[in-house]
Amino acid sequence: METLQVEQLNGKSYALSAEEFEEFVNKIRGSIVSAGDEDYDEARSIYNAMIDKKPAMIVYCSNVADVISSVHFARKHDLLTAVRGGGHNGPGLGLVDGGLVIDLSAMKGIRVDPEAKTVWVEAGCTWGDVDHATHAFGLATVSGFISTTGVGGLTLGGGHGYLSRKYGLTIDNLIEADVVLSDGSLVTVNKDKHPDLFWALRGGGGNFGIVTSFKYQLHQVDTVVAGPMLWPMDQNEKIMRWYREFLPNAPKDVYAFFMAAEVPPAPPFPSELHGAKGCGLMWCFTCSQEEAEPFLQEARNVVEPVFEHVGPMPYPAVQSMFDGLMPSGLQWYWKGDFIRELPDEAIKEHLRFAEVPTMLSTMHMYPIDGIVNDIGSDETAWNYRDVNWSMVIAGITDNPSNNEKITTWAQDYWEAIHPYSAGAAYVNFMMEEGDDRIKATYGENYERLRKVKAKYDPNNFFRVNQNIKPKKH
Ligand SMILES: Cc1cc2nc3c(=O)[nH]c(=O)nc-3n(C[C@H](O)[C@H](O)[C@H](O)COP(=O)(O)OP(=O)(O)OC[C@H]3O[C@@H](n4cnc5c(N)ncnc54)[C@H](O)[C@@H]3O)c2cc1C
Repeated sequence: METLQVEQLNGKSYALSAEEFEEFVNKIRGSIVSAGDEDYDEARSIYNAMIDKKPAMIVYCSNVADVISSVHFARKHDLLTAVRGGGHNGPGLGLVDGGLVIDLSAMKGIRVDPEAKTVWVEAGCTWGDVDHATHAFGLATVSGFISTTGVGGLTLGGGHGYLSRKYGLTIDNLIEADVVLSDGSLVTVNKDKHPDLFWALRGGGGNFGIVTSFKYQLHQVDTVVAGPMLWPMDQNEKIMRWYREFLPNAPKDVYAFFMAAEVPPAPPFPSELHGAKGCGLMWCFTCSQEEAEPFLQEARNVVEPVFEHVGPMPYPAVQSMFDGLMPSGLQWYWKGDFIRELPDEAIKEHLRFAEVPTMLSTMHMYPIDGIVNDIGSDETAWNYRDVNWSMVIAGITDNPSNNEKITTWAQDYWEAIHPYSAGAAYVNFMMEEGDDRIKATYGENYERLRKVKAKYDPNNFFRVNQNIKPKKH
């Protein structure tokens, strides 16, 4: 290699010399893949195959020292830099065109403390890694519903999942984090150390630094009662009307997200249902089957489901139930919103778009009431503490020729339903939708976040994210 063209923060291109590159290589214990290398295309691929960004270099860090060296290197040459954990971000904010990607996926350390009921997790872990380690002790923390998602992006955006009604958001279970700041220094943050930064990290995304490890609170969750219940399309309205009253009034051991979907052509679904469009509930109870039964019966009494597959299973099994259906490499376009209530007019709009454009496309309404609502909107960066659901409309296909169709469906659906939303979305359910959407997400916390940003990253080095601009003095 003679020189390597790398994009800078100022938008200009920098010709990195062979000596400068070599100097960086010598500081790194992990590995570096750059444009032109044999494994470059594999290294730049992420979960959402609709994203096709071409970074100049990807550095696979093997430890915190590598992360620090990467930040120093990027700062020295003023390089546009992205940070990648699990690579599941919808708009692909773990990658950047022309710049440097600091990849954490090789940092896989995990240590469970079963007595203190905590787990320390390095930033390259997926939630499947975490569930595997903690389940050995009958313990779990709150995370999302696909086990290949990275701990980093999900946690920093807030994080919600099957345990949220009972144990809060992922950030509500975050006890401590190690963070490499934009000047290359490492700080440990918790409620006592750098409380302003700890506050901002809990929902503010990757804006403030590179988190190299997270420490979470664990809970006694071993076997859950979980699985889907499905109804045909003509029952969507009845189920939605019942669900909007049922869920917010149900005990915290009851969790069910609503989905509009098409039945996939695979087990456990019977062949006569394959391709059928309709709606469903995905249940997860943190109580016994016997205690769950009356709630399941209440749903059956509304309309008899055409399919039901609910039963006791280890918690990691429900966490990975949809992994096979949604492997890496599909095309995704999604839009979200927070939902307080579901008035009849909103249901009418949902019904207009209930026929999903492709087999995998879906609309999910994830409950974020219960304990999530008991925490103040100024206690963490997550502003929307008074809503009942985080909704996502996801156009998904394995065939790029459907991209226009799924994108149009998701956009039109969102336009129609947005007037009935709380006015903003979960930051992890947004594409690149502009500053106003980011501002709306953080609401009254936005200006405070800008001040924390100005303190810890005044030059906006960490800008490849749902960006919060530093407040100028
Ligand atoms: C199929 C699917 C299902 C999902 N389900 C859920 C769900 O149930 N609940 C939920 O809450 N979310 C869910 N999400 C959304 C998910 O939280 C986001 O996509 C999240 O960004 C993924 O994190 P990641 O580390 O894999 O992403 P990446 O693409 O690696 O990173 C995403 C962003 O986070 C930043 N980042 C990542 N790690 C770090 C770090 N260690 N330090 C600093 N910045 C970092 C990156 O810079 C980037 O801006 C789902 C996503 C998908 C694709």
